[in-house]
Amino acid sequence: MANELSDPTIALLCDLIRRRSITPDDAGCQTLLSDRLRPLGFECETLQFNDVTNLWARRGTSGPVLCFAGHTDVVPPGDEAEWSTDPFEPTFRDGSLYARGSADMKSGLAAMIVAIEEFLDENPEADGSLALLITSDEEGRARDGTLRVMEALAERDESIDWCVLGEPSSQRALGDVIRIGRRGSLSGMLTVKGVQGHVAYPQLADNPIRSFAPVLAELHTIAWDDGNEFFPPTSFQVVDVRAGIGAPNVTPGELTARFNFRYSTEWTHETLQRKVRSVFDGHDIEYELNWHLSGKPFLTQPGRLINAVHAAVTEQTGSAPELSTGGGTSDGRFISPAGVDVVELGPVNASIHKVDEHVHVEDVIALTKMYKRIMELMLL
Ligand SMILES: [Zn+2]
Repeated sequence: MANELSDPTIALLCDLIRRRSITPDDAGCQTLLSDRLRPLGFECETLQFNDVTNLWARRGTSGPVLCFAGHTDVVPPGDEAEWSTDPFEPTFRDGSLYARGSADMKSGLAAMIVAIEEFLDENPEADGSLALLITSDEEGRARDGTLRVMEALAERDESIDWCVLGEPSSQRALGDVIRIGRRGSLSGMLTVKGVQGHVAYPQLADNPIRSFAPVLAELHTIAWDDGNEFFPPTSFQVVDVRAGIGAPNVTPGELTARFNFRYSTEWTHETLQRKVRSVFDGHDIEYELNWHLSGKPFLTQPGRLINAVHAAVTEQTGSAPELSTGGGTSDGRFISPAGVDVVELGPVNASIHKVDEHVHVEDVIALTKMYKRIMELMLL
């Protein structure tokens, strides 16, 4: 272990991992980061909203503002007995570091801090400002985290130009994928009304399963879109359907269902909602439909930031990254609407949220170099 710990990013990563920062508990991680940033000239501001701790740190007062963003919270380890080693004690095995949060995303945080230290050591007079936006509520409800910090910044007219989010974007090898946007996520909560009855007397009942079935079939036949240059096709998935009272001779009086769209920029949540309603209204069905929008789609247009991240990755790995908008949502959905270019670059995501989460030690060291190179390309 002594060998790995001689690298400053790995040493900081281990210190972060030992803090059991299960959402929304920051467990002192942000203090650790602030203690490293203050000596570099950063003003560190803690923004506490309910039980969520957020850090806004900035060095410099002029623009442009290059911001690194991420989260200190981790998902719970689950049954710790299933882990090969203690999830909160960093363990090195076969070139990897095993622990909860090692990939998602304490390695991103450690790499940012060390990259900033090295960059400022060599370039104390760099242009513009450097900033960090760190939350302890990315894995949870995400209501009092990045969203609230962005609101607080907007209230005082403080803006960000470019944002590098350290989420684990890579698929098989470090830097094979960078995310330049994310699909939107829209959920529907449906209730279909019917009349409960005896299975032998359907004429006296109104079975909501029968009225919903053709609607469900039609929703599945719709080709929502083919995607576009940067987005995969919009996907419609039913995640839950419930009806029935548990007796074989009773037809239910009500059906509930939940479905979700992961949608491209070919749609807005309004146009999707209208389309779904028009399908329901084409059938003889009594229903109530409520919606939850968890994130609008966003896309960073090709330009200086994408070019810089692309170059930083290519120089390190020798191959060009794929520009992707796949995967789940991220806090980029809260940052991008303020007119910020957002790109996500982080380690391999294959083991995130799983038992025995891990990250390749070499990847963490290479990621630090990539972040440093991005600063050189953007601020020099
Ligand atoms: Zn994450």
